[in-house]
Amino acid sequence: MPTDFAATKAQFLLPQGVTYLDGNSLGPLPRAAAARVAQTITAEWGEMLIGGWTKAGWMDQPSRVGDRIARLIGAEPGHVVMGDTLSIKVYQALASCLDLNPTRKTILSDTGNFPSDLYMAQGLCQTLGQGYTLKTVAPEDVLDAIDDTTAVTLITEVDYRTGRKHDMAAITARAHAHGALTIWDLAHSAGALPVDLAGTGADFAVGCTYKYLNSGPGGPAFIYVSPKHAQKVRPALSGWLGHDAPFAFDPDYRPGAGIERMRVGTPPVLQLAALDAALDIWDQVDLNDLRLASLALTDQFIAQVEATCPTLTLVTPRPHAQRGSQVSFSHPQGYAIMQALIAHRVIGDFRAPDILRFGFTPLFTDAADVTRAAETLSRIMAESSWDRPEYQTRAKVT
Ligand SMILES: *Cc1c(COP(=O)(O)O)cnc(C)c1O
Repeated sequence: MPTDFAATKAQFLLPQGVTYLDGNSLGPLPRAAAARVAQTITAEWGEMLIGGWTKAGWMDQPSRVGDRIARLIGAEPGHVVMGDTLSIKVYQALASCLDLNPTRKTILSDTGNFPSDLYMAQGLCQTLGQGYTLKTVAPEDVLDAIDDTTAVTLITEVDYRTGRKHDMAAITARAHAHGALTIWDLAHSAGALPVDLAGTGADFAVGCTYKYLNSGPGGPAFIYVSPKHAQKVRPALSGWLGHDAPFAFDPDYRPGAGIERMRVGTPPVLQLAALDAALDIWDQVDLNDLRLASLALTDQFIAQVEATCPTLTLVTPRPHAQRGSQVSFSHPQGYAIMQALIAHRVIGDFRAPDILRFGFTPLFTDAADVTRAAETLSRIMAESSWDRPEYQTRAKVT
């Protein structure tokens, strides 16, 4: 049966009159999440107290929920675990790969990568010393830049700013041909399009859940380690819950079985409860249907905006195979235009220096929403109504 996107939309609590095109930055509230978190607080924390770790299964939640994510990213069951934030998971994956490929010193990434990924790589290189370096090239040059000096590629599959999508299969294949490992950041892929980690032979993957997966602000990240490395990885962040026997309180670290060793400390139980509720909606979704719906929405938005807003420049690649589930336009007054749109209750976001970014999320966005957003934008552009002082002042979070 094809996915019923009207039914999934009804499972979100969206404020009246708001067209929300920012689910790629913070997904909206699944109706069931509030009740699930309340239940975890009162019936589990309140009633069971410390017994909740076993009786309510809190301790097993990171791998149980990880298995629910595995389906969405084409990972083998038992190879995804939840915890910490994406930046931490990037660091863990990088440190593990450098350890697995000890004769190489270069981390390869692209200049469009999200700054935190690059910062984590820079910090790790500085800590390691000994000639470890981060090399960045333009996104379109990544494939050719992989060579016999590359230890690991650290690539975000879909560019957070432009929506440009890398070819995961081609990059992974070339990396392996040159003896390099691959880390895929799926921040803008998980829940945005089908991903095939097992099929492409990816080594590591990381991602967050508060974007397309709708776990709420501060929701935990995930990490995937391929079965071929799972028993060999030496975790750099060797916390007690990644130990083989945490409750033996052994003073010496011994890594846990497989993916369990990528856990660090106490899991965020309340956030995991919200994520678990959000994943109930994902269980109703076929990812191929999602991709078709997403491409239809983005195509529609591009066509309507280009037809009515000649001063906006499309920065997202046009070919379907080269983009994710967001559309970006550039304009020198991008910030003020986005503020005017938000004042008209169409919510996207702005990314410096000049990008208007719109996320398309078929779970709760339909063709009528796209039309409303495009019409509001074209009215603002036609009337230059963005040109007011109140739309120029920059907020701390854009
Ligand atoms: C959103 C995002 C992050 C954010 O990392 P946190 O540690 O969760 O704040 C990191 N990397 C990429 C590519 C992202 O899109």
